[in-house]
Amino acid sequence: CGIVGYIGHREAYPIVIKGLKRLEYRGYDSAGVMVYDGAIKVCKTKGKVVSLEERALKEITTNGTIGIGHTRWATHGVPNDVNSHPHLSNSGELAIVHNGIIENYAPLKEELIKRGYVFHSDTDTEVLVNLIEEVQKKEKLKLGKAVQLALNQVVGAYAIAVFDTKNPEEIVAARLGSPLAIGVGEGEYFIASDASPFIEYTSNAVYLEDGEMANIRLHKPIKIRKIKDDSLVDPYIQELQM
Ligand code: GLU
Repeated sequence: CGIVGYIGHREAYPIVIKGLKRLEYRGYDSAGVMVYDGAIKVCKTKGKVVSLEERALKEITTNGTIGIGHTRWATHGVPNDVNSHPHLSNSGELAIVHNGIIENYAPLKEELIKRGYVFHSDTDTEVLVNLIEEVQKKEKLKLGKAVQLALNQVVGAYAIAVFDTKNPEEIVAARLGSPLAIGVGEGEYFIASDASPFIEYTSNAVYLEDGEMANIRLHKPIKIRKIKDDSLVDPYIQELQM
């Protein structure tokens, strides 16, 4: 399974698709992509990245410059189109890709249903994105803060990338137990489970440590903090051997 993300000046879709192919060796049963161009465009399918590409020919006709992608190894919910990532929140404003498991998704889901949330998939991931939305709405928070508070209610393992249409020049990423690397280019950032999706574009990378999250914002330095205690971490940008 794998995660890819892009924010910058290039067309996101081809970068995300090529990145997902580089991560195929990690194994997966479904694949999906979201591109933003003023509106969220999502395409996802059970099966291989090539099947996703076929479908995307009709469904993703956009040259949007921000996107996230996912290859899924199902843990909660069978491999099918609906359970594939990205998942959107109920408002349609948030999109998430997630590798890992939210172990306490059941009580969280129950609570969200009581508050009126509706679920379309059987995944733990759809619970997480709606928990983030609920926290964000209730406390009127920016995405990063909402992700942080939500993750502090979660038991499990994750690498995530989250996007919010209300602040579309940012991707928030976090990891606990699953790897996540950020490629640092000129006016562009890449996010991926390992550096292979972005090595051809940049040799500068920041590896998130377990328990860290990052605000990845266009034309701004990466901000990394510890999810638990909110302490800031100096991003260590390392040079990869090409
Ligand atoms: N637990 C999530 C799901 O089943 C993510 C699985 C993965 O790591 O790809 O959808």
